[in-house]
Amino acid sequence: MVQDRWRQADANAALAAAGSDPADQALVLRVYTSRLIGADPDLVMHGGGNTSVKVRRRDLFGREIDVLHVKGSGWDLETIEARGLPGVRMAALLELRALPTLSDEDMVNVQRCNLLDCTAPTPSVETLLHAYLPHAFVDHTHATAVLSLANLPDVVAVCREIFGGRIALVPYIMPGFALAKAAAAVFEMNPAVEGLLLVNHGHFTFGNDARQSYRRVIDQVNEVEAWFARGAAARATAPRPSLAAIDVLPTLRGAIAAVGTNDRDAAMPVFDVRAGAEVLSFLERSDLATLARNGPATPDHVIRTKGFPLILPPAVMAGGRAAIASAVRDFAAGYRAYFERQAPRAAQPKTMLAPTPGLAWVPGLGLVGIGADAQAARIAADLGEQTVRVMSDATAAGGFRSIGEDDIFDMEYWSLEQAKLGRAAAPPFRGRIVLVTGAVGAIGRAVVQVFKANGATVFLVDRDGDALERTMTGLGRDAGGVVLDLAVEAAGQAAVEACVERFGGLDIAVSNAGAAWTSEMASLPEATLRASFELNFFAHHHLAQAAVAVMRAQGRGGQLLFNVSKQAVNPGKGFGAYGLPKAATFFLVRQLALELGGDGIRVNGVNADRIRSGLLTDAFIAERAKARGLDADAYMAGNLLKREVEARHVAEAFAALARAERSTGHVMTVDGGNVEASLR
Ligand code: ZN
Repeated sequence: MVQDRWRQADANAALAAAGSDPADQALVLRVYTSRLIGADPDLVMHGGGNTSVKVRRRDLFGREIDVLHVKGSGWDLETIEARGLPGVRMAALLELRALPTLSDEDMVNVQRCNLLDCTAPTPSVETLLHAYLPHAFVDHTHATAVLSLANLPDVVAVCREIFGGRIALVPYIMPGFALAKAAAAVFEMNPAVEGLLLVNHGHFTFGNDARQSYRRVIDQVNEVEAWFARGAAARATAPRPSLAAIDVLPTLRGAIAAVGTNDRDAAMPVFDVRAGAEVLSFLERSDLATLARNGPATPDHVIRTKGFPLILPPAVMAGGRAAIASAVRDFAAGYRAYFERQAPRAAQPKTMLAPTPGLAWVPGLGLVGIGADAQAARIAADLGEQTVRVMSDATAAGGFRSIGEDDIFDMEYWSLEQAKLGRAAAPPFRGRIVLVTGAVGAIGRAVVQVFKANGATVFLVDRDGDALERTMTGLGRDAGGVVLDLAVEAAGQAAVEACVERFGGLDIAVSNAGAAWTSEMASLPEATLRASFELNFFAHHHLAQAAVAVMRAQGRGGQLLFNVSKQAVNPGKGFGAYGLPKAATFFLVRQLALELGGDGIRVNGVNADRIRSGLLTDAFIAERAKARGLDADAYMAGNLLKREVEARHVAEAFAALARAERSTGHVMTVDGGNVEASLR
């Protein structure tokens, strides 16, 4: 059941802040209920759905004009504000209705030319439908239950059974002018209806005030849910996953990248796997292959998920790497054929999108959302999960019948829909999955920040669970992480497996975790030296081994980056226990570079010195400075540049090495200049 989230006190508070203009009061309530709708993923998701309110305002000459405030493109109902509902002059929108046809470009142009604020976002592609319904408030959603209903083969009869004559049906037409006119005509045949069911698409409700329209959304969706609950068969208990992500996803990732481009340096897709009980049981269905060819739950999904998922049944998985690659190539061939069949129908020439899937159905593993970065993968996975619920409910109640191939193509290659995906240049690390160890220390955090700021999908590894959680919270929902002590046996493998489970693979491992033990060698206990070797050498080595296995499965190169230390080449008194394993790690960089070049895996390191961190604490700095007769700042700036070196400088060096596509076996010094620590 979807919840009625209306709280009169919240509505009153919004009204109190709105001032006395009735138009502003209506608009704040419009924002309020839009957010209530946006807060429920079973009503709308990821920019789907739109809302509007009709008001009267005065123009600069004092004339009263009718204005439609309607959701602007680029805004999400969950977080919408008043400026996300641009005002459009109604008269111009109403006048358009007399035209027999109207191109999308002309429609958008008229809408933009009649904005009250010329800098406002472009009004929704469904603006005219909102305009042609007479009610003050109009709400359009793609509720999960309504999508189950909207795709039933006998949708007409079932809708009548549930609602009697209270809801009218609008046959499927792509959004835009023609749909707006058709929906308005359906409404005008019976102006007493309380909502419109858009077949294969979604749902409109309306009312004279915000409360009434919102209430109808909730009530009508719940009536549909109740109908499905009555007919639903008891769900089988879910099977347990039978495939391990690490055995499947890196191979799949590489195979998808290979059909997308021949450029081996190009980014690979990022995954988001869903393996809940409902998904896993759905993937065991015997009619899975048929359902996979059935099309989307709503055309709104197509730009993010493609029309059909890639399906990898047990027979394919049993064939291993070659069979997975072949299934992905078949998907791409099918997509190209679809494009070539459909493109000649379009009025303007179309350029084919990447012939790669947006979703994969992998029985025994889960549903895989596929995107250019973690956010796109998450959105695809969310929509994929909703589709699973819709298909499960619809097939239990008579069947799932989506739009056909022509309509799928028209949506996928609709210029107005493509605009939702944005045209901004990709940041340099988009699609790169970057694992950082020691991720909550000063350098680790700086590394995470620099890579994330440049578009990377980041996965954090640290043994400090509380600090990891705090850091992750600051990074938003599209970062991954795991709590692990890398000095423990098999931790490197566990870290890489966790990263693959979260994002499907690994492109850049930044092996940064380290700690210093101080003592003169002459009296150093062997246990201390061994402990230091565990963390400062073996942990790097083990992480590299696990990362290389994944990179080889992906088959598209990769990178290992090591935080070495100037101690590796320029010993400091009492730092032998630290310097010895770091010297081994320094050698490891070159050894790995030599052995992994043929796989396209680049291996580089950074020698940093005197960075304020958990290793070099303020107290320790004070002690060292005093020993040299300096104050702390002079000690920290004791280099050729006479400037303190900060964690962010180290992070920038890692990012620079990551971008240096033809450098391997290189160690970059980040110490402000120190001839004794210079490399040959
Ligand atoms: Zn819609």
